[in-house]
Amino acid sequence: MTEEPIDLGRVDSVSSSTYTVRTDRPESDGTLRWDSTTIVVVEARGGGRAGLGYSYTDAAAAHLIDGVLAPVVTGRPIDGTGSSWAAMVDALRNIGRPGLGSAALSAVDIALWDLKARLLHVPVATLTPAFHDTVPVYGSGGFTSYSDAELQEQLSGWVEQGIGSVKMKVGREPDRDEARVRTARAAIGNAGLFVDANGAWTRKQALSFAERFAEYGVTWLEEPVTSDDLDGLRLLRDRSPACMDVSAGEYGYDLPHFRRMLAAGAVDCLQADVTRCGGITGFLAVGALCDSHTLDLSSHTAPSVSAHACAGVWHLRHLEYFHDHVRLEHLLFDGALTAVSGRINPGDGGPGLGLQFKTQDAEAYRVA
Ligand SMILES: [Mg+2]
Repeated sequence: MTEEPIDLGRVDSVSSSTYTVRTDRPESDGTLRWDSTTIVVVEARGGGRAGLGYSYTDAAAAHLIDGVLAPVVTGRPIDGTGSSWAAMVDALRNIGRPGLGSAALSAVDIALWDLKARLLHVPVATLTPAFHDTVPVYGSGGFTSYSDAELQEQLSGWVEQGIGSVKMKVGREPDRDEARVRTARAAIGNAGLFVDANGAWTRKQALSFAERFAEYGVTWLEEPVTSDDLDGLRLLRDRSPACMDVSAGEYGYDLPHFRRMLAAGAVDCLQADVTRCGGITGFLAVGALCDSHTLDLSSHTAPSVSAHACAGVWHLRHLEYFHDHVRLEHLLFDGALTAVSGRINPGDGGPGLGLQFKTQDAEAYRVA
């Protein structure tokens, strides 16, 4: 039997579409309020198939995808995800890569990985180093806009599904934070309790809350101060109770951002968002950076893509099973991943990301 190399062909086209979906309830955290979520979806065609990628970002990213990145990627070999990624980085030089540029790049990179994996009839996770068959998740929501009853219902619901840890938002009303954490603890028994202040506190406030929250068994302190304050994060890391890990990294758009965070000793566990940090290609690079520091990486949001990227990270902590995105991904995609007994299996959906876009259903949410 001869073994012929497979020629996957070239990218024929790349295009985007944008959808805005209202949240099921008004939501807020320590520093932001929102009532809708926008997703920019990319379709990359080639080899007779279509690959799908996306980023949770502003509709403005679609302009960059269609006008700047699509012409760069079209005509490139489908198996050359790395060379397409590098070409997109080059194309964004004068526009600016952090922020919208990297969100656009991430969505296209994800679509190219999906296309390649579909043509090879394997899950995207299989094309990564594949350190993990399944990925542990934590439930994430607990918005500051929720009533105590809503907070308890959501967090305990995840625990009842077999999810071992849950995260709530804090920092909007510091006078209420301790009572809300007590309320959450009362609802979830011995499950892991994480808090995320989204940079709302001063250093002194954060130190005080870290000590008080230790009494309620909080083990994860996310963005206690702004992620711009690396010295402040380091201070919190050094002086928080030993049971509590300091984490940050969700606003990282390129590798130097993550390198600076690690060089500052700012976190016990780094976070990265696959739809912001450069897609599957970028996320795996952040994973390698974590490996070099023997530090864990946790994924931020976008669970159906993150599961595949997380499978390829050696020092993986867990995946954020974010309420808004779990809901939206099931709304827009057949094959969106669901946690079973606290874990996600990226191979559950079939080849590629295993997602099929519900084109007709999505039309009601389309904005561009
Ligand atoms: Mg966060």
